[in-house]
Amino acid sequence: MSKKTIVWIHGITCNGDSHSFFNYTEMKNFSKNFEIIYHPLLVTDEDLDSILNSKNRYDYLIVEGSFTKVDEYLDRCGYTFRDMIENLSKRVEHIICAGSCASFGGIFRLRDEENITGALYSGEESGGYWNENKKVINIPGCPLHPQWLVNTLFALKNGEEILLDDLLRPKEVFSYMVHHACLRNEYFEWKVDTKEYGHKEGCLFYEHGCRGPMAHANCNKILWNEVSSKTRAGSPCLGCTEPDFPRDNVYETKTRMSLPLAPHGVSKRAYYTITGVAKSFRIDRLESKLI
Ligand code: SF4
Repeated sequence: MSKKTIVWIHGITCNGDSHSFFNYTEMKNFSKNFEIIYHPLLVTDEDLDSILNSKNRYDYLIVEGSFTKVDEYLDRCGYTFRDMIENLSKRVEHIICAGSCASFGGIFRLRDEENITGALYSGEESGGYWNENKKVINIPGCPLHPQWLVNTLFALKNGEEILLDDLLRPKEVFSYMVHHACLRNEYFEWKVDTKEYGHKEGCLFYEHGCRGPMAHANCNKILWNEVSSKTRAGSPCLGCTEPDFPRDNVYETKTRMSLPLAPHGVSKRAYYTITGVAKSFRIDRLESKLI
């Protein structure tokens, strides 16, 4: 079976997406199908110099970390990040932006007052600097879920069409909201918030900053480490797959007239009416301990 080849490069990054990927549980099967020709954290036969000076074609370029306009910030063995992108992008079939920094600029863009860092692809909301978008697939997340990346790579390898949303994210993953399949949905419906982080009972939307109803990702469908998710563990979704991540005060729920913002796609009037009605009930079962 011929393996597809991958070159993985780093922009400004904490390496979190690499580490998330290394936690993928079916690595043996992955290795039968893909060969990582170069990765900055792995020992590979090829080094960056030989990759950049070869004329070889590769199947996929994976980019982790934000892009910067200031070349000196990202000098890798004498090559700027811009050099690497220009060089490799012409010799690959697809470019995958792994994680929120590569996809949207992430923490580096939003804390950057001089506006010098951003995403690779210059889509409207990504704040990027590169206009070649035909090959780009964004897989945001801080970090990304390893299965989102691996499933996308297998789909590409198998010649499947990957439908993307407006932000170039695979719909298979990002059509879902984090809210879908969260075990706290009944508490959400009846507006019962949790008393404390880490508790099994209660929703985290009303007082604890949960962005599950606004964040696109299937975190409660494809679980993390195959066992859990933030909201299942009693921590709010921080909305890390959206271009506005990270927001200020991520553990606080922003309110207007003491009501939280309406979930994605729900009219404010409908939402506030339903909230008012639901809050007028007290359901003892939802106020008691689960176990
Ligand atoms: S904790 Fe978050 S994801 Fe879960 S039901 Fe509440 S709002 Fe939705």
